[in-house]
Amino acid sequence: MTGIRTIGVVGAGQMGNGIAHVCALAGYDVLLNDVSAERLEAGVATISRNMDRQVHREMISADQRSAALKRIRTVTALTEFGDVDFAIEAATEKEDIKKKIFDQLCPVMRKSAILASNTSSISITRLGSATDRPERFIGLHFMNPVPLMQLVEVIRGLATDQETYDAAVSIVEKLGKHVTNAEDFPAFIVNRVLMPMINEAVYTLYEGVGTVESIDTAMKLGANHPMGPLELADFIGLDTCLSIMQVLHDGLADTKYRPCPLLVKYVEAGWVGKKAGRGFYDYRGDVPVPTR
Ligand code: NAD
Repeated sequence: MTGIRTIGVVGAGQMGNGIAHVCALAGYDVLLNDVSAERLEAGVATISRNMDRQVHREMISADQRSAALKRIRTVTALTEFGDVDFAIEAATEKEDIKKKIFDQLCPVMRKSAILASNTSSISITRLGSATDRPERFIGLHFMNPVPLMQLVEVIRGLATDQETYDAAVSIVEKLGKHVTNAEDFPAFIVNRVLMPMINEAVYTLYEGVGTVESIDTAMKLGANHPMGPLELADFIGLDTCLSIMQVLHDGLADTKYRPCPLLVKYVEAGWVGKKAGRGFYDYRGDVPVPTR
């Protein structure tokens, strides 16, 4: 499919606002949707702040910033997606939420329009097969924070056609990002490798082998990781980490993927990381303080 002009982004959280940001800067018209008007407002404020930072660092000009911001329109109803050529769903990592979104999008969007999901772990084949266009359905897994990270994993479902794949790759290239192909198996490549490490770091904390600080310091200085695993988990969102571990556990039926009970406890408390102000660290003061 050529001539993609309008990209719709569903979900204006950490990932959705980042995807809208890079698409608008690349020249696409962007429709940004969220169920929460508050999240939508916060998402646009984040985009504006992040673009200011890019202007300040001379990565983009002030004119590029204002033109890109003008290309973003926010909508609270998916019925507005009639003119969208390519929709990227970036809502909460729950299969039922994503399926409901695609149920709402399919009757509204042209038959030729493409649907993509930014899911971190859920089967693209299964999500696509629940829509009216499995051949025009694909996984586009952006990395967090989207404006800075170079990689996008592209995941074809069993039915995804070549035209859809080519359209998705051309968008990723226009965004100036690098494509890596992953087969459609639970959590694809990045999270299949990353998430068990994060879960193991939580077990290491749970079993008292180390404190939050010693585990993160050990992996930063001992394994040369730019962020410690618990700091990274907070950054990703502990709710998202737990959902991915559940998908790995259910999808691969191997006990080595069982989510750590301490991760479950943090999510049950609503301490889901940086976006909530508290996770393995407390972010409510000037500097993050470990919570254990
Ligand atoms: P988030 O919690 O920051 O944002 C999710 C947003 O979805 C919220 O604003 C919520 O209001 C919105 N939402 C929920 N139901 C909705 C609906 N029915 N319609 C429209 N919006 C709805 O989460 P996030 O970190 O942005 O993650 C979003 C997706 O991106 C998930 O699938 C996640 O697995 C994936 N992802 C996350 C990361 C990461 O590091 N956090 C990285 C890559 C991919």
